[in-house]
Amino acid sequence: MEAGIGRTGAAVTNKTHYGRPLTAKVENGQLVIAIGVHVLAHAVIYSDWSHEYEESGDLTTHGEYIRTFAISDAPQFAKDVVSAMLHEREDGSTPLSDFIDKISQAAVEDGSLGLCEEDHRIDHGKTSDCETWAQVQR
Ligand SMILES: [Zn+2]
Repeated sequence: MEAGIGRTGAAVTNKTHYGRPLTAKVENGQLVIAIGVHVLAHAVIYSDWSHEYEESGDLTTHGEYIRTFAISDAPQFAKDVVSAMLHEREDGSTPLSDFIDKISQAAVEDGSLGLCEEDHRIDHGKTSDCETWAQVQR
């Protein structure tokens, strides 16, 4: 596992949600993903992607990995991460919807316990009788 959100999540704790580790759960009929804005900022500054290699010319050390930006406002940074997450393409898809698509496909391929055990051939846009959740009111 690479350095980043997963590794720094538990390291930062305080009494507010700022230090809340990355969590994902189903609660009250919703899939909820949460991360404290300070944990997010920590994940960024400790990540590999945020550092680039800089040659020093020093024959012993050769160079260093350098971060060329600093996060001065973690809540604002988190807001801009949300904007990037929800940035719509022409077809209405977003990086977040891409993630949901991919990870839902993974759950199907892993044999989710929420799938009907029978084989199905369902036309596009139609539902099966066993998909009773599709008939109930939202
Ligand atoms: Zn079925």
